[in-house]
Amino acid sequence: MVLIGAHAHGTDPVAVAAEIDAQCVQLFLADPQGWKKPVRRDDADALLASGLGIYAHAPYLVNVASTNNRIRIPSRNMIAQHAAAAADLGARGLIVHGGHVGDGDDISVGIDNWRKTFERATFPVRVLVENTAGGDNACARTLDRIALLWDAIGQYDVGLCLDTCHAWAAGEDLETIVDRVRAITGRIDLVHANSSRDEAGSQRDRHAGFATGTIPPELIAHVVREAGCDAVVETPADGQAQDIAFLRAALAG
Ligand SMILES: [Zn+2]
Repeated sequence: MVLIGAHAHGTDPVAVAAEIDAQCVQLFLADPQGWKKPVRRDDADALLASGLGIYAHAPYLVNVASTNNRIRIPSRNMIAQHAAAAADLGARGLIVHGGHVGDGDDISVGIDNWRKTFERATFPVRVLVENTAGGDNACARTLDRIALLWDAIGQYDVGLCLDTCHAWAAGEDLETIVDRVRAITGRIDLVHANSSRDEAGSQRDRHAGFATGTIPPELIAHVVREAGCDAVVETPADGQAQDIAFLRAALAG
């Protein structure tokens, strides 16, 4: 069964999920802007007992592609720590952004750094690499780059998280994106079903609710339907119930 849910805002994801009728929730397990190690959540037992599908999102600072070892090494450690904490919650995946190299760096070095991440460690929860919105040095913005990345890491137990806002911002055609991504990766494990505040091709990563964003809501639903996997809305809290209801109705129809 495909689960439709949300990135849970606030401190009580079980209560939020009930309020917005989410079947799965995505959580940060530590400060998303920090390097702190996750600690066991007070509501871990409640989450486990809830029957909700759980996804964990790694902090934004994680960049295993980096050519700077003071970023790359802690990033790898962070994936290991967050994967362990995610496993304790029975999570279905740990979402990690595709990352980037610095200006003037060779992208192939960043791609190889991704490969080394999996060559050197296995994780108790599957890492889902997420496509990102902008930047010429990104490893997972364009499909060409995702193809390079998958050549390097596809042999490992790794999945893909497709964010509709990011793909839109990257200038991708959402009508055909699922087939084109799957032709490269063979899989899509999770859709981040978001609209965008900006026009297609903007390279800006600003999520919006379905009602106010620039992506036709039907097109977001189309991506979720084609992907046939769980979907999480990462939209503003006040519209999540509506966004989830829209997706569920669209998938049922
Ligand atoms: Zn996302």
